[in-house]
Amino acid sequence: MSTPSIQLPQYDDGPSLDAAGRIVHGSSPDAIYAHVPFCRHKCHYCDFYSLVDHRDRTTAFADRFELEAEAVRGAIDSSKIRTAFVGGGTPTLLEPPLLARVLAAITSIPMRSFDEFTVEANPETVTEDIAATLVAGGVDRVSLGCQSFQPELLKTLERWHDPNCVPVAVDRLRRAGIARISLDLIFGIPGATMADWERDLDAVIALEPDHLSCYGLVFEPGTPLSEKQRLGRIDAIDDSVEAAMYDLTRTRLAAEGFEQYEISNWARPGEACLHNLVYWEAGDWLAIGPAAAGNLGGIRYRNLPRLDDWLQGSGLSSVVNVDEPSASVANGERLMLGLRLRRGIERSVFEGLVRGHAERAAAVSRHLERENLVWQEDRLRIADGSVMLADEILSDLL
Ligand code: SF4
Repeated sequence: MSTPSIQLPQYDDGPSLDAAGRIVHGSSPDAIYAHVPFCRHKCHYCDFYSLVDHRDRTTAFADRFELEAEAVRGAIDSSKIRTAFVGGGTPTLLEPPLLARVLAAITSIPMRSFDEFTVEANPETVTEDIAATLVAGGVDRVSLGCQSFQPELLKTLERWHDPNCVPVAVDRLRRAGIARISLDLIFGIPGATMADWERDLDAVIALEPDHLSCYGLVFEPGTPLSEKQRLGRIDAIDDSVEAAMYDLTRTRLAAEGFEQYEISNWARPGEACLHNLVYWEAGDWLAIGPAAAGNLGGIRYRNLPRLDDWLQGSGLSSVVNVDEPSASVANGERLMLGLRLRRGIERSVFEGLVRGHAERAAAVSRHLERENLVWQEDRLRIADGSVMLADEILSDLL
């Protein structure tokens, strides 16, 4: 972690509204990320900020969200914005009129073109009303958290939905007019077998999504799942089984016509997530909502992370965790993110990222010799046969 070039108070010392002003005013983001911090139940693997006891605060949330969006509108140059993503939490847990207000607040910010407007949803929350609200609010893409279709594996994750909700939700969304649907799956859940994973892949493929995200389960520190592992109540799946699951994912999805465009993401041609590409290509994005993380002008920040504190504000959110990485750190991260993309990094960009960083350049040479990295059409990328080693390769380059 680098030393921030501007000295800003940390959260415990009081909210840093000055910092928010300096970061957001005059910025020119490529994208907007909005965070809705409500969930019906806390899944045991999740370390995102969300609250389950919230019914009394959803109207206050929408009121405050509108004020923040209004302040953002007056503070930024929005002429580059092309995408917005509403995540959480579970945005679709909001009552339809409140969800409509949140969506309207986002679209009230003028944009260069609205190329993609994604909302995350949990399958059990997709009622016909919610689907209609999304369409009326300008949403054209929904990312649906399936995670698994095996009830016992969902139980291990403490994920509260019936797998049968997924096809119902997909059907409702399509009938309402959402053309682009992405489905999320998690592999490597304790107790899962290859046969389970094959069934999960079959289930998502049968739903004909445009986009799939398949992540290996991560035991995030501080989550109940990690605690159960620490207490010996569950065991992480064997590395070789997890690797075989990933391998099967790549083979199976390729055979079905999906292109792997990022280490954990596959899409039909032309259906890659434009918003997430902003993250991977080190673009600038603005954050709205409590605990939302943003990145503007080389400065990373997070809006106030506690709902009740955030609700007390009236304009831009105060921010915490402000960090302005050094050029060396930022270049290393850009290299790492760029190599997550299967198309890799253009030679001219790559040269800028390693200039003056002999160790990093040497690490790249080492991986080129081992054929973990390759040059292809003047782009540096992870070799097809080494995608399984991506974590190892990328951490070596940082
Ligand atoms: S629904 Fe999503 S955000 Fe909410 S607790 Fe589960 S994984 Fe986390």
